[in-house]
Amino acid sequence: MAQSPIGDERIERFRTGVHGDVIPSDDDDYDDARAVWNGIIDKYPTLIARCRGVADVIRAVEFARENDLHVAVRGGGHNVAGTAVCDDGLVIDLSEMRGVRVDPEERTAWVQGGAAWADVDHETQAFGLATPGGVVSKTGVGGLTLGGGIGHLRCKYGLSCDNLRSVDIVTADGRYLTATVDENEELFWGLRGGGGGLGVVTGFEFELHPVGPEVATCFVLYPGERAAECLRAYREYVATAPDEVTTLSSTGVMPDEGLFPGDVVDELKIGFLGCYAGPPEEGEEALAPLRELGDPIADFSGTMPYAEFQQTFDEDYPDGMRYYWKSLYLDGLTESAIDRICYWAETAPSPLSTVDIWELGGAITDIDPEESAFVGRHAPFLLGIEANWEDSANDEANVEWVRDCVADTRQFSDGSFYLNFPGFFEGGEAALETTFGAAYERLIALKDEYDPADLFDPNRDANSAN
Ligand code: FAD
Repeated sequence: MAQSPIGDERIERFRTGVHGDVIPSDDDDYDDARAVWNGIIDKYPTLIARCRGVADVIRAVEFARENDLHVAVRGGGHNVAGTAVCDDGLVIDLSEMRGVRVDPEERTAWVQGGAAWADVDHETQAFGLATPGGVVSKTGVGGLTLGGGIGHLRCKYGLSCDNLRSVDIVTADGRYLTATVDENEELFWGLRGGGGGLGVVTGFEFELHPVGPEVATCFVLYPGERAAECLRAYREYVATAPDEVTTLSSTGVMPDEGLFPGDVVDELKIGFLGCYAGPPEEGEEALAPLRELGDPIADFSGTMPYAEFQQTFDEDYPDGMRYYWKSLYLDGLTESAIDRICYWAETAPSPLSTVDIWELGGAITDIDPEESAFVGRHAPFLLGIEANWEDSANDEANVEWVRDCVADTRQFSDGSFYLNFPGFFEGGEAALETTFGAAYERLIALKDEYDPADLFDPNRDANSAN
């Protein structure tokens, strides 16, 4: 086990200056504290500081600077690349900062930087309100929002980062700033989809919308041998569906014995998942075409509480399993794109893996691309390739499958990818430059202004060789 190069005395002084736990490598909790959602990630920070509030965060940032430690910020710990932890440096762990305060009159929610989407849904749904999150409620608000945020409400209400009203952040020099469209506005621009690395966000203020509590949902599955035909029908469907409808398709085996009849458990399937942000009776009608493609294997669609729908897949992505996810923004869903997507779904080495098509457009395209650092507004679809597997002996085969799929399907894309499905950030800065295009120079200028010594985000470069 790596030993802390910082003397005990300095650690003790740090400990007395913060309310949260400070966990060095010889602490009994160290291995639990350094573990993140993706079981492939195995990093050994020098220290982990579980902050309890802004004062702890400011103190932790100062401690890192004084001791020449780089900093990884842990929100929900769900980034597939493991950017919430680092080797050697200090992890500023926000997992005890999960408070949410709703203002039902103003329709806003103030959310602490370490909250998960389940925390937000729980508080906001008490008032029949919601803000766009992701499709798994255990995921962290922090990383998801800083990278953009595509969830079940995106076509009607935009990305998570589109719903930000203000952001409270501790920067590398220990200042506590608020960023809005009118205050520290360039910083606010970069925090909306730029992927973080500019400081520790202690609070996000989101706009809320009336949603639910009951919403019409769709989750219907067809035999995988009909995937191409179903994807063609899906392409036609989303071209005319109203913005209230947000859907995605997922093609994979999904071997769930509890869900499927025995004869199809191990067979390839294509599923459509989505919901309607509006009155449930209208939604059932609007989603019906996806349920009428003929002879489904199973159909779990129906009206249900929005907060429950958000949790549908929580158990399918257990902590500590092995994951490698990449993505590409697609120019369209052409015949040849559909053909290759089906091929890659059929050849996945793990039955738990899927190839997904996320519908974009709608409210996402209502926002001027210059307004935020998020870069995917031009694309009608996002291709997500998820390798999910259990045994470390299969690491290479699964990672290779995803990389080969991306290399092959790049022909249907301008090569840009969604920052929150990044693989291990292969290609480093060059890949980010391709992805951000004109926004890249603006982001570099922000980094130079707010974090000139590269205190934050040590992982992008470290991972670029993978
Ligand atoms: P972390 O690993 O904690 O953080 C990710 C990055 O953000 C790190 O670099 C971290 O330093 C930084 N960061 C996090 N919080 C803060 C903060 N408060 N201040 C400063 N920096 C911070 N994405 C979608 O858009 N839609 C989905 O539906 C979706 N579903 C997912 C489902 C699962 C099961 C998983 C694992 C991921 C999913 N994602 C989805 C991807 C998700 O957006 C990313 O994994 C995201 O990084 C998760 O955020 P986090 O806070 O949990 O991650």
